[in-house]
Amino acid sequence: MMNLNNLIRKNVKAMKPYSSARDEFKDLKADMVFLDANENPFETTLNRYPDPQQTALKELISKQKELPINQVLLGNGSDEVLDLIVRAFCEPNQDSILTLLPTYGMYSVLAQLNSIENIEVSLSKDFNINVDQVLKQVKPSTKLLFICSPNNPSGNIMDVNAVTRLLKAFDGLVVIDEAYIDFGGESATQLIDEYDNLLVVQTLSKSRALAGLRVGFAMGSKTLIEALGRVKNSFNSYPLDIVAQRAALASIDDEDYFRNSCERVINTRKTLCSSMKALGFDVLPSGANFILASHPQYSARKLFSGLRDQGILVRYFDKPRIDNHLRITIGTDEDNEALLIALRALLGND
Ligand SMILES: *Cc1c(COP(=O)(O)O)cnc(C)c1O
Repeated sequence: MMNLNNLIRKNVKAMKPYSSARDEFKDLKADMVFLDANENPFETTLNRYPDPQQTALKELISKQKELPINQVLLGNGSDEVLDLIVRAFCEPNQDSILTLLPTYGMYSVLAQLNSIENIEVSLSKDFNINVDQVLKQVKPSTKLLFICSPNNPSGNIMDVNAVTRLLKAFDGLVVIDEAYIDFGGESATQLIDEYDNLLVVQTLSKSRALAGLRVGFAMGSKTLIEALGRVKNSFNSYPLDIVAQRAALASIDDEDYFRNSCERVINTRKTLCSSMKALGFDVLPSGANFILASHPQYSARKLFSGLRDQGILVRYFDKPRIDNHLRITIGTDEDNEALLIALRALLGND
């Protein structure tokens, strides 16, 4: 096993994390008299500071994911969690990360923001991981390897064998961004016990329909989660606001709504794929709540602006390999009907 402590930035390891008034009390009971935090005593349901440990929410996630509570870290959206990961483990102007293109743009932004080199390796023709090529590009300075599965923007689920090969062979942390995992594929959380260099990142933004709430989380070995907590808690001594904690609890508790809404998205994805194929589009197999499509006869850029002129926004990327593709989010039946009508008009098929 590798020494995980060597992966943590020296100053993060050495620092004394900030501690809030409430951090000092572990067993708060509702009937206590709270005169310690300069709160306003009059009840507004939000007059008290939130639980700095987010115990109730972490307990629920830990129960659902079958992991101890100290292997879960919460953040304001998974974008923040990804930023914490870079800041806890990568020394600016010294360390590097490795990303697999095309992928989620935030990894490159975080590398630039934190002055970390980003080694970019292309995914294969079918957007899977070429393990040998990845291992060849790894440098001694490479601390993190970002894998997005299902991958944004291609939508495919990464091969589990490739992921485990990397977990075994790579001498740093493997971060698997599972923002879309509930729409397809198997979560890598089950590998956490076996590989202590694995961090799995998930979010309530997509499958839980709570993008506006800003709640994401990381799961991994105790040492890694503790390091992330040092960075997180020092900037926000109350890492998640009270509304976010309450709403996230309610959402994760509502298994029926969750299953039903995922199922609806997956069914609609199937329908939309067939309708798009019937219009002559090539559509990549998707395990996410979006599809990546291209048309052999029509430029994606033109289709993109044509749709926009009709009030329909899809995503167009002016990037190698995907610059003739459109990434289309699965909407309601009505949204998709509007999309198909607009596309038929643009293709002259109406
Ligand atoms: C949408 C998305 C996120 C961001 O999620 P938030 O939790 O809303 O910050 C992270 N990773 C990927 C790959 C995404 O597509």
